[in-house]
Amino acid sequence: MIVSKKLLKKKVQQKAEQKHERNKEYYRKKRLKRKYGKLYVGTKDENLKSPVYGAFVRALAPKPPLLIDEWSDQYRVLPEISAHEAGLWRTDRFPFLRRIMQLLSPAHSCQQVVVMKGAQIGFTEAAINYMFYTIDYSPAPMLYAQKTLVDTGVFVKQRFEPSLDEMPDLARRVGTQSRGRRTGDTATIKVFPGGMIRFGGANSAASLRSMPIERLILDEEDSYESDIQEEGSPSELAIRRTANFPKRKIYRLSTPKIKETSVIEPLFEGGTKERYYVPCPHCGHMDWIRWDNIKWENDDPSTAQLVCQECGCFIDEREKTYMLMHGEWRAENPDAPYPSFHISSLYSPYGFYKWSQAVDLFLRAHRTHDNTLLKTFVNTVLGETWSESGRIIKANALMDKKEDYGAEVAEGVVILTGAADIQKDRIEAEIVGWGRGMESWGIEYAVFRGDTERPQVWGELDAFFNRGWRTKNGSILPVSIAAVDSGFLTKLVYEFCRIRAHRNIFPVKGDEGWGHGYIDRPMRMNKYGVWPFRAFVDEIKNKIYSYLQIDEGAGRCHWSRKDCYDKAYFGQLTSEYLDRKWVNGRYRLRWILPQGRRNEALDVRCLNIAALNILNPQFDTLQLPDQPQQVSMGGSTRRRRRRIVSRGIS
Ligand SMILES: [Zn+2]
Repeated sequence: MIVSKKLLKKKVQQKAEQKHERNKEYYRKKRLKRKYGKLYVGTKDENLKSPVYGAFVRALAPKPPLLIDEWSDQYRVLPEISAHEAGLWRTDRFPFLRRIMQLLSPAHSCQQVVVMKGAQIGFTEAAINYMFYTIDYSPAPMLYAQKTLVDTGVFVKQRFEPSLDEMPDLARRVGTQSRGRRTGDTATIKVFPGGMIRFGGANSAASLRSMPIERLILDEEDSYESDIQEEGSPSELAIRRTANFPKRKIYRLSTPKIKETSVIEPLFEGGTKERYYVPCPHCGHMDWIRWDNIKWENDDPSTAQLVCQECGCFIDEREKTYMLMHGEWRAENPDAPYPSFHISSLYSPYGFYKWSQAVDLFLRAHRTHDNTLLKTFVNTVLGETWSESGRIIKANALMDKKEDYGAEVAEGVVILTGAADIQKDRIEAEIVGWGRGMESWGIEYAVFRGDTERPQVWGELDAFFNRGWRTKNGSILPVSIAAVDSGFLTKLVYEFCRIRAHRNIFPVKGDEGWGHGYIDRPMRMNKYGVWPFRAFVDEIKNKIYSYLQIDEGAGRCHWSRKDCYDKAYFGQLTSEYLDRKWVNGRYRLRWILPQGRRNEALDVRCLNIAALNILNPQFDTLQLPDQPQQVSMGGSTRRRRRRIVSRGIS
């Protein structure tokens, strides 16, 4: 009984081995056919059978000038143990890699290629293609580095060597006799005629500076330590070794990590900033795949689809193959000194990482309010840096906090302010309720559409500010003060405010700068007969973003359950982030609105805070005696603000 079981097992094993051999043979033949196809004189089968003929052809055939992508399409075989799809490599499966591999080819003059990317979309496989190409086609000294020597060791054992084994022609060239001495074929070095590949770790200075190198691959650079063994940055250490090669190439690829310390993001920003634009299968509109355009229904990841911003139709993930094939890289800074690329895992070819998986990860992070999970999502799926402000979850988490006030005005509201932002074709306005400790309640957000150079929309805005708002006990609360942005259509705004000054409707102009408090009071009426206030939006935005993080008590923001507070509203409210740049020994802070996003809701909220500061009500004395908690950003602001507050308005 036992014997037969053993026999059976052995037989199964043998069969599997035979199958594996057959497969290998099949791919080798296929490769040979492609390689020497044009030079056959007899029938293909006859020629293939003759090893002499093969060697003869190989010796005589001139090498056509292949680029890495062409070389890979001809020779690269993916092994079963590490690849999703074993067998011959097809660049068409990863069309966005074509340009990367062309740039890495020696025929191209660029010296540095930077890729900021999501996880698992083939860029490391392109690095392997680059290494094999170097061994086979264009030998040179090369260095490949990962975070640690251990990581690199795992990479060699799991990805590099199995791939090499699939390509016997190449494998034979590695680690052969040379001038009577045995050359290396170890886990850290592969020597071949004309060159070598060294595998280094960013934690070991010795492994990075051991030899001059012409081709350098820095994989997962954002995980490197900033300083190793007091010799400085590991990347710099390795790059210094390439200095003597005029045709050097540096391939830097990484999923980004923390915004403040990221290496790859500034590198991306300094390059051509290329993104892969794909056509909408329905209308042909070219756009890159943005997370904001991925939509799903009822928290069900399997419904994930892409929405075209041009024609508004839903695009199924199955159409991704077509889209990728017809896509192209488009540069934001085409004149930059080197090419840089950004691509997210949403581009993963159909059948690999799915949109539904991305949505699932996002929903899980969102449901559990787990910041580490969300960081993983932002870093590895979106291929973007993680900033502690965590603006992505905020939009959705805030939306979940919408409340039923039981009336138009919630309990706790003492004062109502209004604010309006003027655009060419609409006015966006909001009424906000304020209570003790700057706790706030979004009462209503309104968009009045129409040409703002004509009176009709202004009438609607006037009515919006003029109406009263019902509280729970039935009384009506009026708007105490309102601010209208005077940055656009200034004269019309002045005119609107001048005749409504008795109702505390003032023009407010947004201004930049830190350390001026929130608002600047005019010393006198201007020639249009209004009091032109200024609001310092940098500090106000900072305040708003600190309020948004408060879950309880002073400073907390509430929103009504009304439909006007929708996904678009919260997206706009959380659209900006504070960018910190180290300039001349100090941080320079600037609010950045990412491309393609809108921020009217945030602007209107800023104006509401400006309005409240113009009115400067004494909540403490009005309401309860205890001191509200100050959520202020810095000493200087607080000092400055207090001074202004004490001045009052009247
Ligand atoms: Zn479309």
